[in-house]
Amino acid sequence: MSSKLTGGCLCGAVRYHSPAEPVLAAHCHCDDCRRSSGTGHCTHVVMPESGFTVTGEVRFFDRPADSGSMVGRGFCPACGSPIYSTNSMMPDKVFIRASSLDDPEAAKPAMTVYASRAPSWDPIDPALPAFPEMPTGGPKAAIPAA
Ligand SMILES: [Zn+2]
Ligand SMILES: [Zn+2]
Repeated sequence: MSSKLTGGCLCGAVRYHSPAEPVLAAHCHCDDCRRSSGTGHCTHVVMPESGFTVTGEVRFFDRPADSGSMVGRGFCPACGSPIYSTNSMMPDKVFIRASSLDDPEAAKPAMTVYASRAPSWDPIDPALPAFPEMPTGGPKAAIPAA
C-alpha cells in the first residue's frame, strides 16, 4: 500500500517519486523510442499522474505520435537521461522510462508494441504479447483507467 516508486537521472539533478502502483509497463519499438533510447526500444512504466512528483529541471521534446497525440519526452538537460514522457491523450498518466528507475525490477513489462520495427539485434520477449504496431484503439485502449 505504501509502495513507492523512485528514480532519477544519471547526474542526480532530477529525482522523482510516486506513491502509486504502476498501471502497466510495456516495451515500445517505435522509431521515436528507438532513437531516443540508446538501443532498440524504450520500456515505459505507466503511472498515475496524481501523486507523481519531480524535483529538478526536466526539459521536454514534443513530437506527435502516430496516434495524433502529442508525446512529450522529458529528459535531464544536464546529463541527457530520459526520465518520463507525457501524452496529450492521457493527461492523467505519466510514462516513466524504466531505465530511470532506482530499482529496474520494479518494471514488469506486460506487452510489446511496434514489434514489427524491432531491429534484429534487439529481440522481442517471446513470453509477452507482441503487437506489430500499436494495438487497435491506441495506447489508451491498452491502459486500464486509473
Ligand atoms: Zn541529470
Ligand atoms: Zn514508442
